[in-house]
Amino acid sequence: MPKSPPKQERILRGTPASEGVAHGVVQFIGGNFDEPVERKIAAREVGAELKRFHSAIDASRRDLKEMIASLEKRADRTARDILEMHLLVLDDPLVTGKVEVCIRDKHEDAETAYYCIARECMEAFNRMPDDYLRERALDIRDVAQRVMRHLRGEAVAHVHDGHPAVFVAHDLTPTETAQLDRTKVLGFAIELGSRTSHTAIMARSLGFPAVVRLHGLLESLHHGDEVLIDGDEGLFIIHPSPQTLADYRKRERIAEKREALLLAESSEPAVTLDGTRITVAANAEFTEELEHIRACGAEGIGLFRTEFIHLESPDATEDQLTKIYSRIVKGLAPALVIFRTLDVGGDKIDAALSGEIEQNPFLGWRGIRVSLAKSDIFKQQLCAILRAGAHGNVGIMYPMVSGVHEVVAANRLLAECRSELQAANIRIPERVQVGTMIEVPSAAAIADLIAPHVDFFSIGTNDLTQYALAVDRVNERVSGLYQPTHPAVLRLIKMVVDAAHHAGIWTGLCGEMAGDITVTPLLIGLGLDELSAASSQVAKIKHAIRKLDIVQCRQLVEQTLLESDPAEIQRIAQEFAERQYAELFEQ
Ligand code: PEP
Ligand code: MG
Repeated sequence: MPKSPPKQERILRGTPASEGVAHGVVQFIGGNFDEPVERKIAAREVGAELKRFHSAIDASRRDLKEMIASLEKRADRTARDILEMHLLVLDDPLVTGKVEVCIRDKHEDAETAYYCIARECMEAFNRMPDDYLRERALDIRDVAQRVMRHLRGEAVAHVHDGHPAVFVAHDLTPTETAQLDRTKVLGFAIELGSRTSHTAIMARSLGFPAVVRLHGLLESLHHGDEVLIDGDEGLFIIHPSPQTLADYRKRERIAEKREALLLAESSEPAVTLDGTRITVAANAEFTEELEHIRACGAEGIGLFRTEFIHLESPDATEDQLTKIYSRIVKGLAPALVIFRTLDVGGDKIDAALSGEIEQNPFLGWRGIRVSLAKSDIFKQQLCAILRAGAHGNVGIMYPMVSGVHEVVAANRLLAECRSELQAANIRIPERVQVGTMIEVPSAAAIADLIAPHVDFFSIGTNDLTQYALAVDRVNERVSGLYQPTHPAVLRLIKMVVDAAHHAGIWTGLCGEMAGDITVTPLLIGLGLDELSAASSQVAKIKHAIRKLDIVQCRQLVEQTLLESDPAEIQRIAQEFAERQYAELFEQ
C-alpha cells in the first residue's frame, strides 16, 4: 500500500501563558464544531439514535429557554432576540427532517447526520450576497455547537475520550477549567485569552504549558491532530516534523538538567548576596498541587485562591470546607498557608451567587464586596479557615479591598466567628495573621490607613495593573497596554511597601509578576519581603534572589523609576537579570 505523505508542519504564534513543552494529540473543549468520526449504525439502532438526537434538541431548547429567562430582567433586548432566533433555528423542521432521514435511511449516527446538515446550511448562508444573511451562518454554527455538545455529552462537564491530550479551545472560562479532569491535560492552547486570565494562571499553577491568543487556531486543526505546544516561546506546532521533535528533545534535556540543579538547592533559603532573606511562597488553587508545592522549595502558600474549590463544590458545608482546608494546612505545617477569602466575580463567575450579568464585572460585584453582602457564606468560610488553623499555621487575606471600611467590617465578622467557635468549644488557634490584597489603586493610595488593621499586605499586580492603567486584563484588544512594568504600577508598589514598613508590617507580592524572573531584581529593589508565585517558578526565583545584591537592586529601581516607557523598564530589568543569572535563561 502506498504510504500517505507526511503532514506538513505548521507553526502558529501566540502569547506564552505557561512555561513548558507538551507533545500530544488535540482534544477540543468548549464550543468547538468539529467533524465527528462517522459511525454507521445497525437497523435495530435507528429508533434509539433518533431518540438520542431528539433528546439533544430538547436539552438545547431547555438551555436556550433558561438563558432567555435569565435575561428577562435586562433592558437590552438584543441578547434575548438573538437567543429567540436560535430557538427558531434549532427547531427548523427542514433541518431536523433531513437529519432524521440520514439516520433512518442512511444509517448515519446522530452526530454525523446533524453535523453534515448543519454544515450544509452554514455553507449555503455563507454564499449569500447579503451581509445580514451571511451573518446568520454564525447563528447556525452557535446552535449546532450546542446540539453537538449535548450529543457528545459535553454540555455538562466537557468530558473527553479519556486519554491525556493538548486541550484546545476558542476560549475557556475559569469555571470551565476548574471542571476539567486535570489528570487528562497535557497543555492548553486557546484562541483568545491573556497571560493574566485565570485560565492561564491555573495552567501555571498546575504546571501545564499554555499558549493563548492563537489566532486562527480552530480553523487549522482537527480532533486527534498531532501537535506540540511550546509555552516558553508561545508556539503551537501542528504536525511537528521529526527534526522539530528532535530539537525540542534537546531543549528538554537542557531544561531537565537545570531543573535538577534547581531542585537540589530548592530547600535552601533565598538570601541575597548581602544577607537579606526573602520569603518565597507558592500560589495555589487546588489541593492536588500540595505535593508539588512541598517538593518545589516553597516556604508556604502566599496565596490560596479559595474560589476554585468553591467553583468545584459550590454547596460545600462548613465541615466539608474545614476538611479540605485542613488537608492543605496539615500538608504544609508548620509553614504558613494564607487563604484568600472568596474572590468570585470578574472572570470567576458563580452564576448562583452572582445573580445578574454585569456590564463591567471586573468593576462590579467581586471579592470582599460579595463576601460582605453574603455574610453567611463569608462567615462559613472564615470559620472553616479558623478550624483548619488548629492543624498548623494559617493566615487570612481579603481580596478586592478598596477602602478601610471593608477591612474593618471583615475583621468584625472574623471576630464574631472566633467568639462563636470558642463558645462551641471548637479548637482554633489563638492568633492568625490577617492581611489584605492590595490590588485596587485606592487601597494602594491609602495603604498607610489600612495598615493598622492588618498584619500584612500582599500586592496583587494582576489586578493592580488592570485597575491602575484602566486595561482589562483579559481583553485582547488592549493587551498591548497591559504592562506591569508601567512606572505607575511600580510607583504604587513602592508606596505600598513604604507604607507597610513604616507601620511595621510585611508586604508580599502574589501577582504573576512575582514569578517572572526578568523582574525579580526590580521587586527585590522595591523592598518586598515575600514573593508568592506558581510552584513551577519557586526554585527559579530562589536561585535568582541568591544572585542579587540588594543595594544594586535599589539602584536599578532608582534608575527605572526615572523612565517613562514600560517597555524600556522591562528591557533594563531583563538585561540586569540576564547578567546576574544567565544560567536561568539558557535554552
Ligand atoms: C492579583 O490580582 O494579582 C492576584 C494575585 O489575584 P487574582 O489573579 O486571583 O485576581
Ligand atoms: Mg486579583
